Amino acid sequence: MSRPIKATVNTTALTHNLQQVRTLAPTSKVWSVVKANAYGHGLARCYAALAATDGYALLNYEEAILLREKGVTQPILLLEGFFKPQDLELIDAYQLTTAVHSDWQLQALADFPAKHAISVYLKINNGMNRLGFPPEAIPRVWQQLNALPSVGTVTLMSHFARADEGVDYIQEPLRRLEQSTATLSGPRCYANSAATLWHPQTHHQWVRPGVVLYGASPTGRTADIAAFDLQPVMSLTSEIIAIQNVAAQEGVGYGHRYRTTTPQRIGIVACGYADGYPRHAPTGTPVSVGGKLCRTVGTVSMDMLMVDLTDCPDTQIGTTVELWGTQLPVDTVAEAAGTVGYELLTAVTQRVPFTLIV
Ligand SMILES: *Cc1c(COP(=O)(O)O)cnc(C)c1O
Repeated sequence: MSRPIKATVNTTALTHNLQQVRTLAPTSKVWSVVKANAYGHGLARCYAALAATDGYALLNYEEAILLREKGVTQPILLLEGFFKPQDLELIDAYQLTTAVHSDWQLQALADFPAKHAISVYLKINNGMNRLGFPPEAIPRVWQQLNALPSVGTVTLMSHFARADEGVDYIQEPLRRLEQSTATLSGPRCYANSAATLWHPQTHHQWVRPGVVLYGASPTGRTADIAAFDLQPVMSLTSEIIAIQNVAAQEGVGYGHRYRTTTPQRIGIVACGYADGYPRHAPTGTPVSVGGKLCRTVGTVSMDMLMVDLTDCPDTQIGTTVELWGTQLPVDTVAEAAGTVGYELLTAVTQRVPFTLIV
C-alpha cells in the first residue's frame, strides 16, 4: 500500500487535444511542445500519445536524446537553441533542429564540420525582448545561415509576448515580422498555444502549441478555453485521511491562519506543497471532495492540506479528493492561488506516483 496521492495521465485526452489543434490549424504542421518533461506529465509517458505530431519541441538535450532512443523519427526542435559551440556534435549526431538566436551561434555553425546539414530556426525578436535577433538583422543573418555548408533548411521563428491578450497585442509584433522577412522565402513558425487558438493569421507553415495539448489555458483562465473541445490530461488526486470536528473559535493548521466561527467539520487531505500543491493557495481555494466542490482552509502544509466539509456530510476517511483534473480544471485552482495552470502542472514533485490511463 502507499500514500493515497497520485497523478493520473490520460493519454487519450492528449491525443484528442492534438487532434483539436489540427482542426484549428488545418494547413500547418505541428510541433508538439513537450519541454519540462511534457509540462510535468512525463515525457516518456506521453510522447507516444502524440505520435501523430509532425515534430517534438523541447529544450533539454537529455529529453531530445530520450526521444531518439525511444525511436522517434520526427524532427526534434531545441527551442532555446544550443548553449555551447561543442553542443553541435550532439545536435549533428542526433539530427536535432536548433533555434539560432545570437551571433556567436553563427560563428559556431561556421566552424563546425557537420556530417548532416543541420536544420535551423532563425529566431526573430518581434518585441518580446527575450531571445532573438533584432528585425533589422534578419536579412543579413538569413544570408549568412544560408551560405553555411553545415546549415540545412532555415525556418523563420518568432514568439509572441501577448498572444493571449487579444488581437491588438499581436499587430505590432506581426508588423515587425512582416517587415523584416518580406524578401525572405523560408517557412515560418510563430504561433504558441494562444496564437494557435486565437490568431490564425500567425499559423503559417508550423504552429508550436504546448499548454493546450495538456488541456489547460494559455491565459491561465479556464473560461477562456471553454469554446474549444480540450480535455484535461492530468488529474491529481488523493484521499481524506482524517476528519476533525472542530469547535467554534479554534485555529486550524500552521499559524492558525484559519479560525472557525462555528463548529466545523474539517477534512485532512494527503497532499501538500512537497507534492507540488501551491503553498500560497489561500483559504477558499477550490477542491473536489467525493465529486463535490469544497474549499481549502488554512495554510497548506508540506504533506497535508485541510478542507471545509460543512457542505459534504457524506465525506468519510478514504473519500477521494481531486486537487485538479477532470472535475476541477487546473486553471481554476491556479486562478485561486494567483498563478497559472502551467506552473501547477510542472510543479508536481518526484514523490507523487504517476499512473497512466490509455
Ligand atoms: C513554451 C514555448 C512554446 C509553447 O508555449 P504554450 O504557451 O505552452 O503553447 C512555444 N514556443 C516557445 C519558444 C516556447 O518556449
